[in-house]
Amino acid sequence: MGQEGESRVKTANGFSVAPERDADWLRASWRETVRSVLITEQRAFSANVLSVLAIAAAVLFLANPEAYVLPLIMRVLALVGAHMSYNHLRRQIDTGRSLEPALRILSIMLFFGGMSWAYLLLPSLAQPLNEPLRLLIAAGTITGVGLIVTMTAPLREQTFAFMIGFLLTLFVALYLYAGDALLPYAIGTTALVIGVSMFAFATAQQRSVSADMLVENRRLNEDLADALAQAEFLAKHDPLTGLYNRRALFEYGLVDGQTQDIAHLLLVDLDHFKNINDTYGHDMGDKALIEASKLMRDALRAYGEGYHFAARLGGEEFCVFLDEPDAERALVFAEDLREGLAMLHEVIGLPSGATSASIGMGPHDRGSTIDESLRRADAAMYDAKTEGRNRVRQVDR
Ligand code: GH3
Ligand code: MG
Ligand code: MG
Repeated sequence: MGQEGESRVKTANGFSVAPERDADWLRASWRETVRSVLITEQRAFSANVLSVLAIAAAVLFLANPEAYVLPLIMRVLALVGAHMSYNHLRRQIDTGRSLEPALRILSIMLFFGGMSWAYLLLPSLAQPLNEPLRLLIAAGTITGVGLIVTMTAPLREQTFAFMIGFLLTLFVALYLYAGDALLPYAIGTTALVIGVSMFAFATAQQRSVSADMLVENRRLNEDLADALAQAEFLAKHDPLTGLYNRRALFEYGLVDGQTQDIAHLLLVDLDHFKNINDTYGHDMGDKALIEASKLMRDALRAYGEGYHFAARLGGEEFCVFLDEPDAERALVFAEDLREGLAMLHEVIGLPSGATSASIGMGPHDRGSTIDESLRRADAAMYDAKTEGRNRVRQVDR
């Protein structure tokens, strides 16, 4: 990520994005890093077991196999202990719990792991390192150490614990057994450790970038899904009232859900709505539209079974679709709605008479076009207006 790492992430195809790196992001990224170490550990576990078996086999051909018994036992115990700690960590990750205690236990296990690798070197160091098998054991040990350091590199504290365990034991062994070769051994070991650490560090960097990118991609995907859902909602809904919009009604086949052969359509137009805007301000007008919509939605929900909905056709004009074949019952609903809208002034804190609606009501046969039914309801609504407003008029069949 380079110098820009604090604020920008380069994606695989070269785009540079600026994520908000909040605490959640960092935590998710850290979890991904730990997860990647756990995946590597799962793969490396069998290799680890094999290396112990190979060393045990090589030891059998040496003159002093008994000197390797304790180191091998310790190596096996450390291996099992570390593996169990990794499994514990895995469970913590899977259940979303805190990783700190599990990481601390892992540090301790890895410290013993480091000691156990150096302890395996000890019987070889005690003898001149000129037998091929001893060299094999030494080389195998260094390879094992390199693998573990590289594997755990992203978990810095745990790698550190492992290295300390290894180096402490190794330098004590060198001091005790290396004799004249102490200096070259110490220099050689230090060079080796530096080399392994540098390689491990590079690997760790790469892994943390992958983890960052994974989290970033996931977040981008979520944002995209949110934006898409929002766009989809806005395509069919009116943002002010949350009701369906005109497009939903005319283009998206909203009425296709009708369950009865005949339904009823109400065209609702608020009366003298311009006055509300002019007298009390546009915000009050908006409030009236929102509350009127709520009233319609609640009334439809309370109506019970059936495919009912309300849509805002534009301005202060609404269409209520009542999946009710019975004209008498639909009329009762329309009258109730009209009464509710006439009392809306109480809800929004306006004087009596400030709100009312004229409603045109007509049937809608399944299969006929919504345009035709709406036009007839509109004509009935116009009658309601001319007859003095605040009333329901039906389409003559
Ligand atoms: P009538 O009783 O004849 O229906 O009279 P009216 O005033 O309700 O009808 P008119 O069509 O003259 O005015 C409708 C008004 O609705 C005009 C417009 O400013 C207002 N309006 C339309 N959309 C909105 C909106 O989203 N918010 C607000 N506050 N007002 C709106
Ligand atoms: Mg009006
Ligand atoms: Mg109007």
